[in-house]
Amino acid sequence: MRNKIYFVANLELTYGINSNGQLVHVNSVARGQACQCICPNCGADLIAKQGIKKTWHFAHANESDCKGARMTALHMLAQQIIKNRKSVRLPRYEGMYAPPFESKVINFDNIKLEKIFQLEEINRRPDCIGIKCDKYGNTREIWIEIKVTHGVDQLKMQDIREKNISCIEIDLSDLLETNYTIDDIYELVIVKSDKIKWINSPILAQKDQQYKKIKEAEAIEKAQKSNEIQSYIDKQNELKKQTRKQKLEVVEFEEDIYLPLSDKEYFEAWEELAKMFNNL
Ligand SMILES: [Zn+2]
Repeated sequence: MRNKIYFVANLELTYGINSNGQLVHVNSVARGQACQCICPNCGADLIAKQGIKKTWHFAHANESDCKGARMTALHMLAQQIIKNRKSVRLPRYEGMYAPPFESKVINFDNIKLEKIFQLEEINRRPDCIGIKCDKYGNTREIWIEIKVTHGVDQLKMQDIREKNISCIEIDLSDLLETNYTIDDIYELVIVKSDKIKWINSPILAQKDQQYKKIKEAEAIEKAQKSNEIQSYIDKQNELKKQTRKQKLEVVEFEEDIYLPLSDKEYFEAWEELAKMFNNL
């Protein structure tokens, strides 16, 4: 049996939170403890390792093996991109009746970052909420879920559907296995649509149903019209038949009157008349 040799990328934490609360790449900070960064996951102080042998990365000052650091950084970077850009890509939606809604970038008026992912008890809230205002002052919300390790579960999906909430999910789980950069995340959140899916879209589903009703009404109207036309044709045919029949009857009647009597008939008629005359 052959042993397969896999190249395992040396996956390190490359983003930390600086003193302004911003996520920053290890390449853009001061070396060592002077970086003044903390871990996005556990909040411990970080050291910027900018050596020659290894790829530049952050290490925990307390040397802890913080397993969720890269995952949390990825999650927070995606939130940061959506908040700063105030936009996200909506995926394609294909209903049963209406023409499909094609994927497009939506620009929001405001973004709320909802979930603080360390707290399990509030995981019913989304990662981000995109808020769009129309000219009449009405607001519309789209929940944006970022999948890194866990996607939207059945319970949450049910909750979202029952409450008629519009929701999309962006799957960034593949990036966790790479030395991701902010550009890689940007690409999956705004540029491409293949990692984004609808969890629920009541507006597009409603449009689809409206389209179904319009199509059904059109079909009924068409059927009614063709029925009307058919019954008109039937009536016309009936009229033609009746007219033809009446004409035939007239002809028969005329023939009864004007047909000359045979000699025998004439003689019989004459006898009849004579009888009647004699009886008077
Ligand atoms: Zn940590």
